[in-house]
Amino acid sequence: MGIDDKDLLDRFLRYVQIDTESDVHSDSCPSSEKQWNLIYFLERELKELGLKDVSVTEFGYVLASVPSNSKKKDAPQIAFLAHVDTADACRGCAKPIVHRKYDGSPIVLPDDQSQELTKEAIPLLSEKIGEDIITASGTTLLGADDKAGVAIIMSMVKYLVDHPEIIHGPVRICFNPDEEIGRGMNKLELSELNAVAAYTLDSEHTGEIDFETFSADQAVLEIEGVAAHPGSAKGVLVNALRAAASVLEKIPKDLFPEEVDGRNGFIHPLEITGTSEKAIIRFIIRDFELDGLDEKRELLKTIVKSLKAKSKLTITPQYRNMRYWLEKDFTPVDYARQAIKRAGLKPYSEAVRGGTDGSRLTERGLPTPNIFTGFHNIHSPKEWISLQDMILSATTLVHLVQIWEENS
Ligand SMILES: [Zn+2]
Repeated sequence: MGIDDKDLLDRFLRYVQIDTESDVHSDSCPSSEKQWNLIYFLERELKELGLKDVSVTEFGYVLASVPSNSKKKDAPQIAFLAHVDTADACRGCAKPIVHRKYDGSPIVLPDDQSQELTKEAIPLLSEKIGEDIITASGTTLLGADDKAGVAIIMSMVKYLVDHPEIIHGPVRICFNPDEEIGRGMNKLELSELNAVAAYTLDSEHTGEIDFETFSADQAVLEIEGVAAHPGSAKGVLVNALRAAASVLEKIPKDLFPEEVDGRNGFIHPLEITGTSEKAIIRFIIRDFELDGLDEKRELLKTIVKSLKAKSKLTITPQYRNMRYWLEKDFTPVDYARQAIKRAGLKPYSEAVRGGTDGSRLTERGLPTPNIFTGFHNIHSPKEWISLQDMILSATTLVHLVQIWEENS
């Protein structure tokens, strides 16, 4: 199958040059004005590809469909999503550099020559010799997370439009804002996708199809002390700061995120503010399993109960491991694995130590595993991607829409 590599590369280079950093301190959606630049750009490009129903919602979601060309009336609608925003690290407009036919020597980024990509530091680069590697210039992110996902989906759309002999059911496209600040799906109705399954294009390694994420809660602990003049405080003063410190002190080391990996969860204090009268600690709690999450919640409650100071602990759920829903019906993952094989790759899955837009959609009733894009070293100036890996991802998507149609 011949995905148009020049078209895919040109799209990717266009998108990464548009600054779309999201802003956690803003309440609007999109959280930053600048995301609209890419949102309207994509709306125009989808129209140029000939899609008829392109729309942009008031919250900045770009939606469009590739109509079914299948004779089967019940071929199900499948959706593909990618996020337009980038993380708030190494800010600025990316100046992408294409390192054609990478020869294995160190890649030095010109705007900050201390930024060097070498095979020694990044062993995966050894597998990419001869490929076209794209990096930023040293001072900014590349933004392949997730403009690679956007470019790959656009490339699939172009392929389906140019190749009517490829038979597929209805395909829905959605580009969304604000994934990086955990609000990517807040303003999207499932009815706007109207699909039986969806896929985010927001995962790393070639062949990867992820269906497991953390389950996540957040906790806010408010501690009230008792004020007194320190000169005559004996037996009266209760210091909220000392109580806060004692809570942190009692969390066992094997629950620190800096001490664990693999399938182990953690309790992570994010922020502590206060005075001797009142202190607030914000935590995030993570575990792959719900009973693991329960245990960590209970532990925090027990620690808080032991406080002499008056306190209030509020725990709220954030997202849940998508495996709980997907294991009831593994079809979307199975079809993705078949598509990855047809693209000539070996499918593999990883339990993601984080959440995705797909965790929220899956929990709300739309199964949404996460497919690879080929991006690496994301959220850093050394972010890089191989054009050939993006082509493999787009090829996987073209196989995937056919597999859904074949099985309908
Ligand atoms: Zn991402």
